[in-house]
Amino acid sequence: MKIAKATIHEISMALKKPFRTSLGTVTERRGLVLELHDENGLTGLGEGVAFSEPWYTEETVDTSLLMLKKYLLPALLQEDLHHPEEAERVYATVRGNPMAKAAVDMALWDLHARQARKPLYEIIGGTRKTALAGVAIGSQSIDDLLDQAQEAVREGYSRVKVKIMPGYDLEPLKALREAFPDLSILADANSAYEGKESDLLALDELGLQMIEQPLSQKDLVRHAELQKKLKTPVCLDESIDSYKAAANAIALNSCRVINIKIGRVGGLTEALKIVRLCQDHHIQVWCGGMLEFGISRAHNVALSTLKEFNIPGDLSSSSRYWEEDIATPDVIVKSGEIERFEGYGIGVSLNHKRLQEVTLHSFDIKKH
Ligand SMILES: [Mg+2]
Repeated sequence: MKIAKATIHEISMALKKPFRTSLGTVTERRGLVLELHDENGLTGLGEGVAFSEPWYTEETVDTSLLMLKKYLLPALLQEDLHHPEEAERVYATVRGNPMAKAAVDMALWDLHARQARKPLYEIIGGTRKTALAGVAIGSQSIDDLLDQAQEAVREGYSRVKVKIMPGYDLEPLKALREAFPDLSILADANSAYEGKESDLLALDELGLQMIEQPLSQKDLVRHAELQKKLKTPVCLDESIDSYKAAANAIALNSCRVINIKIGRVGGLTEALKIVRLCQDHHIQVWCGGMLEFGISRAHNVALSTLKEFNIPGDLSSSSRYWEEDIATPDVIVKSGEIERFEGYGIGVSLNHKRLQEVTLHSFDIKKH
């Protein structure tokens, strides 16, 4: 899979509704779309899912852009890989920066599947016909929360994730539980409970599906102590930025669930390794979301066709976030499920007209 040229598009698109978490509000989503062109005119698509500001993890759109431009893509253009898993050689020149690496890794897997004239889900062994969808709702007034949950239930979602923080937890979650006794409710704290672990014990009676990332990203030990005190499963998100981090968390009993995000863990190669590890240790997995565009969304759908992804992920319809996405066809949720894409690779292609409208700048990187 010799790469003849890479094209990066830096884009910015307004969300239909601002999205608030314990650490920041996203109104305008900047991001990176990566095209890897082989010598036979085929193109693999990847997406850089870092946010504009370093509130989620330390990476940003700008740091990803720098890593791709200066290190990862020039190194990739020197290689002649036979399989995406061999890209380790390319990544070895850069420490950390999983989201930048994941953009390359996603595009390599997509290209690999397109070259093999197969859907990506088939290449990775996915057997589910549909991916299970869930919806994430930002922190807001309780009335708005209940309205949005009602809308999600009407649309067929069976799981709702609510962003919580100290002062916005028990009351909204209780109201939600009372209004929807049978709904799977997941509370995502984005590390907001550092030093306020006792607040979380009060949530233990609400029958939550899980509490996601209550404490700081690096603190696996205290997550383990917290999990011991809670009946509710702890799910780790930000803490799991690699296979090694997942192995450490499992060894320490820091969680019972891992949210797998292709971008956060450094790509599909690493994500697949984590899925196998979790299966060996009876740790549940589901696919997380990054308010991403249609490219990463299609990669998530492919990943979620693996049999291990048997609870709903942060996968929702493209139209929930965007007026018009940069990839086509759209991800569409019907009765809480998304049909897998049957086309080659991730099964979606760029909507060039829309891409152009939202592009801040594009440039090529060629082998010299
Ligand atoms: Mg999360």
